[in-house]
Amino acid sequence: MATLTITQASCADDYDPNSMPVAKARGFIHQFLEPIGGVARVPVRSALGRVLAEDVISPVNVPSHRNSAMDGWAMRGADLDPASEAALDEIGVSFAGKPFGGAVGKGQCVRIMTGGVVPEGADTVVMQERARADGKRITFAPGQKTGQNVREAGEDLKAGSVALRRGRIIRPAELGLVASLGIGELAVVRRLRVAFFSTGDELKSVGSVLGEGEIYDSNRYTIHGMLERLGCETIDMGVVRDDPKLLEDAFRAAAKNADVVITSGGVSVGEADFVKAMLGKLGEVVFWKIAMKPGRPLAYGKIGGAHFFGLPGNPVSVMVTFYQFVRDALLVLQGANPVEPIPTFRATCTAKLRKAPGRTEFQRGILTQAADGSLSVRPTGEQGSGILKSMSDANCFIILGDATGNVEAGTSVEVQLLEGIV
Ligand code: AMP
Ligand code: MG
Repeated sequence: MATLTITQASCADDYDPNSMPVAKARGFIHQFLEPIGGVARVPVRSALGRVLAEDVISPVNVPSHRNSAMDGWAMRGADLDPASEAALDEIGVSFAGKPFGGAVGKGQCVRIMTGGVVPEGADTVVMQERARADGKRITFAPGQKTGQNVREAGEDLKAGSVALRRGRIIRPAELGLVASLGIGELAVVRRLRVAFFSTGDELKSVGSVLGEGEIYDSNRYTIHGMLERLGCETIDMGVVRDDPKLLEDAFRAAAKNADVVITSGGVSVGEADFVKAMLGKLGEVVFWKIAMKPGRPLAYGKIGGAHFFGLPGNPVSVMVTFYQFVRDALLVLQGANPVEPIPTFRATCTAKLRKAPGRTEFQRGILTQAADGSLSVRPTGEQGSGILKSMSDANCFIILGDATGNVEAGTSVEVQLLEGIV
């Protein structure tokens, strides 16, 4: 963990708060992230989406018994002839959950089903498609190998070995894996407490009537949704007017009650000045103009023990900056490990895109796959940072790097999906 303070780090030679590249800002923030502690023991199902706080050690071998990977017959491999057919006598059956009690001797075989315990004496399974039954006399095709189609006990996981490492985010596969070990409870990291509020004199909450020049506050809804998806405990502090005293009170209360404080609005030129002055009093905060679009102004720092993210006010900017900076920071704070960058891949853009060099743009796109497997993407339409419908229509970001200018139709572009499969 860096002992560097935020202000010291922001004095580095190559640090330009007026044109901060996306990757650099992300790297800067990561220097100050230390996973929260705190463990909760929860029933397995409730661990979905949470972060494992301790390694899960397997109390059993998986599979627990040597068993068959095929429907067929089990025998001694030595009784089969590699060069020609071999006939053996069937002496019993071994089904999944109903093992054959005896042992397989020379010249004998046992009918076996997938998952059935391989009986004592047997070391090989021949699949039924390679055998011919004449009553209890079974003839096997040549070319079989000793040991084939047998899953050894502990082959997937040995008793006492690590089944899942701490830091793993629990998905449906992990729920099943843990259940397969007979474990009913998991140690997960306590939920990250995130307080958030919107700033702006023009904002009204849903349920009230709008006056002239007023708008409904939508940022608290998108932020709520994004935080819930990340498994955070949310503290919605409502709308705070652009009033220094009210804002100071809100910041103090938020930082006292939460691990992370997120605000929207109030970080653009003009407004930022007084927020900056106040936060200078309460903590250590840096203000950046990120070389990105949308989402130019951004603040990051510490207020007391809490991490602070000051997102821009425009609704699309809020979502883009959240996904590009806040999301992985919250995962790190929750103890997730590893936290991988969201993958990007290439698709052919079917429309012309307007773009000026100098900033990274996160345009909203609709990705489709043709019957031949090829991927193409088109923009959702108008790309204004206030048009939240563009985020709703989109299933991906089209990421256009700093140096990129206008993009002609038919060009390959970088895309990043908004949804994962699980
Ligand atoms: P600001 O960054 O405060 O200057 O806000 C930039 C733009 O985003 C302005 O048009 C604001 O009205 C709008 N805006 C700010 N906060 C919100 C919000 N919570 N919900 C919807 N729009 C907002
Ligand atoms: Mg504002």
